Amino acid sequence: MERGENVKESRHLDKILLKNLVLKNVTGVDSWQRLKSQPVIINVWLYTDITAAGNSDHVTSSIHYGHVTKAITQLTEKSTFKSIEELGHAIVHLGCVDFGAERTTVKVEQPKALLHAAAAGVQLSRTKQDYEGLEDKKQVVTTGTVSGLGKEDMVFVKDMRLSTIIGVNPWEREEKQVVVVNLTVYPSEQRKGEESSKSHHMRTMVRTLARYIEASDYKTVEAFAVAVARIAIEKCHVNKIRVQFEKPSAILFADASGIEVTRDRAWLNSVLEQEKQSNKVFAHHQVQEGIKEIPVSYTQTAYIALGSNVGDRVKNLYAALDMLETDCSSVVLDTSFLYETPPMYYTEQPAFLNAACKIATCLEPQQLLERLKHVESTLGREASFRNAPRPVDLDILFYNDLVMESETLTIPHIGIQEREFVLWPLCDIAKDMEHPKLYKTCGQLLSQLLKVAAETEEGVAQIDKVVPIQPQQLWKWKSKTYIMGILNTTPDSFSDGGNYVDVDKAVEAAERMKKEGADIIDIGGMSTRPGANDQFPEEEEIRRVVPVIKKLRERGFDLPISIDTFRASVAQAAIDAGANLINDISGGSRDPKMLSVMAKTKVPVCLMHMRGDAKTMMSKDNVSYENDDVVEDVTYQLHSLVQNALAAGVYRWNIIIDPGLGFAKTAKHDIEILRRLGDMVQGSESVLDGFPSLMGPSRKKFIGNLTGVQEADKRSFGTAGAVAASIAGGANILRVHDVRPMWEVTQVCDSIWRSA
Ligand code: ADP
Ligand code: MG
Repeated sequence: MERGENVKESRHLDKILLKNLVLKNVTGVDSWQRLKSQPVIINVWLYTDITAAGNSDHVTSSIHYGHVTKAITQLTEKSTFKSIEELGHAIVHLGCVDFGAERTTVKVEQPKALLHAAAAGVQLSRTKQDYEGLEDKKQVVTTGTVSGLGKEDMVFVKDMRLSTIIGVNPWEREEKQVVVVNLTVYPSEQRKGEESSKSHHMRTMVRTLARYIEASDYKTVEAFAVAVARIAIEKCHVNKIRVQFEKPSAILFADASGIEVTRDRAWLNSVLEQEKQSNKVFAHHQVQEGIKEIPVSYTQTAYIALGSNVGDRVKNLYAALDMLETDCSSVVLDTSFLYETPPMYYTEQPAFLNAACKIATCLEPQQLLERLKHVESTLGREASFRNAPRPVDLDILFYNDLVMESETLTIPHIGIQEREFVLWPLCDIAKDMEHPKLYKTCGQLLSQLLKVAAETEEGVAQIDKVVPIQPQQLWKWKSKTYIMGILNTTPDSFSDGGNYVDVDKAVEAAERMKKEGADIIDIGGMSTRPGANDQFPEEEEIRRVVPVIKKLRERGFDLPISIDTFRASVAQAAIDAGANLINDISGGSRDPKMLSVMAKTKVPVCLMHMRGDAKTMMSKDNVSYENDDVVEDVTYQLHSLVQNALAAGVYRWNIIIDPGLGFAKTAKHDIEILRRLGDMVQGSESVLDGFPSLMGPSRKKFIGNLTGVQEADKRSFGTAGAVAASIAGGANILRVHDVRPMWEVTQVCDSIWRSA
């Protein structure tokens, strides 16, 4: 399509066309980010009124394509342009001002600008009137009303070729096929104080979209094209986009089958509104009490960095997070993982804890800053030098996609791109979000920073992902595999039932496991093995576990204690008695009050995957997985448990996932999960990437099947094999009966798989 030809009001004018002029020019960087001279292809349409020229021997009569070509060639030889858009502006300026054309349209394409596309380009149209009244016509190309992008201008990406899974047919789900995507981006309205248009963030957009498209697996091209448009608008600051999309291999005797959709921000807003409504319905019917309500006036979104390195750092951060909601007219929508980081800049001070969160608020940026400073001072921060130790530091990283600078406030926060301790947590919750000033996603900023840091003498900073397990005690996930010793105060558990019903015996067992190397004791008052009775009164369960926890704490037992229950009242009572972690086999889904107890107590929680209950979990339905892919199905369902927990206000750093070996799974499933655990919790494409995991293979039936060992308490060696596989797959906590032998296994495995 000759894009320049559809300029309506110029139809009656004569037209001089310069087609596919190829020139060498340094315009921005090439697809490998090098500033190199590279070809640009230029098409120019000059519209001129021959009638006027004929009557008055006007200068336009002398527009000759040869002269224009020469002038453009000189222009590109003499100067370099920061972007093809700037070059385009120089050419339309040349046409309208120097050659006096009524109107000039130019299309500049750069064939080597992008790795995956045939070309990137820009098309601009300007009239002679656009330049009238402007004093310095030479300056006009970079400032004033004629620069930037106007209504009829567009930026485009031509023939992006990517491979992805697309289509409904079974054979189309097997293999990736090539798709060809053409994008046209229409300019956004220029906002107050914005210096220039944003065509040069095209590269970032193309990268984001390419990554997304290659990882996607849509069934229909329609859904696919709409999803691509949505990402461009939602994540890449595009206001309006046309997505043309072809599957060249779909039809044998035609070139391609395809679709074209155009979407804009107003469309996205209506979609988001609809989603909000349907989420509400979902929240009321299916999920739990305690899903946070967001007041309708909280229409602004901001990202806040939190840091603390004085006093009880965890307590400070938790108080700050609470105060965001009570004192800052905000709701915390999402939280990052938690990191312990060495001090930067002024380094003679204690290590920091850092996190980031996403909030919805009704406050304007300046008001928000004032409220944050109020929180900082309430929590004991005194005015001091910049980068000094502080009980809590709260910084506004992003506020929508605002770019602003005042005496007291700079948004985006000035330090983002140079601070690993900001970028790590930020990437947990906004990896694909583009920095509105640097035009790079947070993920790109982090990898860029890590690359630079790796080349310096100090190397990358020693940053640990941590979870607060007890007051003043952190678990560092990188450092070792943690051992959870199992203590069942039940009469009927499958391998140790009846052993520890007596409080003193249970206490003794906990003490013994501590000596043997346990890092935490998991106390359960209800057997959940397949077929068990899980319907007895909550009071009975509380009566079985609380006295043990109380007694342990009275005796000064200092290991963390975990409560193994799916009942909110039991969890609450155990935490009150001194437990430190909630281990819920239903992942917070069985008791409607559980998620709010998890959020309120702020303890780490383990969300396990299962289906049905003790009686029904091994039914045919409950052990069948979609496409027989247990790993994918479990990953997906765990992810939705995680989402619900986050929505209820459980902090991301407090969430541990457990695929639930033996729960609604056949032996084959258990083995498959052990084999592919790494894909599940460490695959960069996995939705669970980054979450710490717990595995509970101990003495389970699949081990009996494989070894022929009938008695559960004699399955230690088989268990050891599964423990080793779990650690190789990245598991962080192992829940075991035989603490000492498994501690020995983890010593060996950690030295193989976890040493730096
Ligand atoms: P740091 O940037 O390391 O957090 P300080 O917290 O010591 O440094 O600096 C605080 C000052 O920085 C505040 O008084 C505030 O006025 C100013 N400031 C500028 N931009 C921001 C922002 N986006 N968020 C928070 N404070 C900001
Ligand atoms: Mg600050």
